[in-house]
Amino acid sequence: MIIDCHVHINQYELLQNTPSLEDRLEKLQLEMISNNVDYALILSSYKVNSERPSTKQIIDAIQKYDNLGVVAGFTIDNHTDEDLKNYKQWIKDGLIKGLKIYAGYEHYYPYDKRYQKVYDTCLEFDIPVMIHTGDTFSPKGKLRYARPLHLDEVAVDNPEVNIVLCHLGNPWIQDAQEVIYKNKNVYADISGLVVGNFDHYFEKMMKEKVAELINYAGEPRYLLYGTDWPISTMDSYLNFVAKLKIKQEYRDLLMYKNAKDLFKIS
Ligand SMILES: [Zn+2]
Repeated sequence: MIIDCHVHINQYELLQNTPSLEDRLEKLQLEMISNNVDYALILSSYKVNSERPSTKQIIDAIQKYDNLGVVAGFTIDNHTDEDLKNYKQWIKDGLIKGLKIYAGYEHYYPYDKRYQKVYDTCLEFDIPVMIHTGDTFSPKGKLRYARPLHLDEVAVDNPEVNIVLCHLGNPWIQDAQEVIYKNKNVYADISGLVVGNFDHYFEKMMKEKVAELINYAGEPRYLLYGTDWPISTMDSYLNFVAKLKIKQEYRDLLMYKNAKDLFKIS
């Protein structure tokens, strides 16, 4: 079984000629089927425009699929208390499985007090918060807000909230592994380590870094499979994880067990 906990459905340049959300969802389905991916979580964006559908648009559009869930993006700049109120209702209705903060894409630290209502919501409904860390796909992102060490602050102050550190904090994977090791409420997804496909040398380097992370932080009950599709391709990601030298028990945790428990996917 495979759960991809991190995909997007925005109209990126990488996805040419798919202006409609429905067509992009169809593309996602084809990609999932051809890679034997059983379930995927779609992360709604930090802004809404013709290329970036709202959480509600995504919720409505995926009704016909039973293998997709939604993690709702929340920003200080582009979202309101009204949005959060709606999110709470949709969480209750089982339509949202987590919230996502885009530190770096918007220029605030994850421990900014204005995000506290997001963490409080996650606590209230017992859902995880995903936080962007590491390199930003957009050159307008500011990296100092996206360093994984900032999640330590959030994790310590919100010990009952489960936090997903996205992208292993790449390239600050050493910082990420300490934050994961130290805080039992911090998880990490391996998504978005590459744009497109891994080339041989980059893949080898990343494989070693993931091995080091597991060596350091121990049994990977915190590690989640995710691709960042369509930014990274699904087949290249499956090839990558196939090459990780980890025991089957650990592989199962990574590929689906951790995500299934954390996001309560049935
Ligand atoms: Zn992403």
